[in-house]
Amino acid sequence: MKKSKARTRAALASTKLRTVTGVLSARSVKMAMAHEHMFTDFCPPDQDAYMDVNWSNKIGAAVESAAVLHALGVNLVVEWTNIGIGRNVLALRSVSRQSNVHFVCPTGIYKDLKSPVLANVSIAQMADHFVSELATGIDGTGIRAGFVKTSCNESGATRKEVGILRAAAIAAKQTGAALGFHGPEAKTTRNVVKIMEKEGFKLDRFVWAHAQVSTLDDNKRMADRGAFLQYDAIGAHTDQFFGGPTSDAAMLERLGQMVAGGYENQIMLSTDAAVCINPPEFQYDRDNAYLSRYFEQKLKQRIGARRTRKILRDNVVAAFRQPTKL
Ligand SMILES: [Zn+2]
Repeated sequence: MKKSKARTRAALASTKLRTVTGVLSARSVKMAMAHEHMFTDFCPPDQDAYMDVNWSNKIGAAVESAAVLHALGVNLVVEWTNIGIGRNVLALRSVSRQSNVHFVCPTGIYKDLKSPVLANVSIAQMADHFVSELATGIDGTGIRAGFVKTSCNESGATRKEVGILRAAAIAAKQTGAALGFHGPEAKTTRNVVKIMEKEGFKLDRFVWAHAQVSTLDDNKRMADRGAFLQYDAIGAHTDQFFGGPTSDAAMLERLGQMVAGGYENQIMLSTDAAVCINPPEFQYDRDNAYLSRYFEQKLKQRIGARRTRKILRDNVVAAFRQPTKL
């Protein structure tokens, strides 16, 4: 199912997004980044070191980074850090207030991490928790999640991860929220989609992150089923994580092929950089400003300004629009 032009345009005019500072009209969005991280913590969440950082320093660094994006014309960022990997919604709201960049943040648990949060609960209870974060607020605040983010081991979901994926699908279906999945492996992504569909979740609200790592054919097949795709290693220039095309030339070629195939309403771009990582030795070198500063111009030359705007704004708004049933 290729998403039609009319559908995207009509949706954009009246669409709203749920950000960490409240509801945002799509009309206010200039340019958007579909997959970024301000803070990420790779310490196991059951250890003392987890989230034990100098938060005023981290917030300062994130404000500086977000201000650079803002100066480049970006005022909406979808932040993909969820439970178990350093999500801090109060810090994110503070960054948003100080930079004037709007952030959408997720609910959902990152992989099977022995997170003390939701350790011994049923799938239904876990789904209820995700729903409450979408409908009411996170960590005792009124800050609500705008989508559900999931992931699992790249080679396939563990038993516990299957439970997390099912809970995520139930919550997304119940609320009408987008459901994003970290999917560097096409086969694993297809298996995960099967698990989600068994819960009644429909793929028109599915966002496949790291889709550039899979083949063009794999991308098209998933897009044919209505999913959104993210090419989120713009400016990475190496295959240090998952492989796949990362050079600008390779990314432009893939984008050109998808546009030529009629999928221009289903593609999003981002850098998947992380401004602050704990522990600091895990910090990786990727510049979230690269997309707007350098790649955007190359994209315009390749596919034109109108399609570039669609990919760098309209599609992000359509994919991450606020949960439709809340
Ligand atoms: Zn990410």
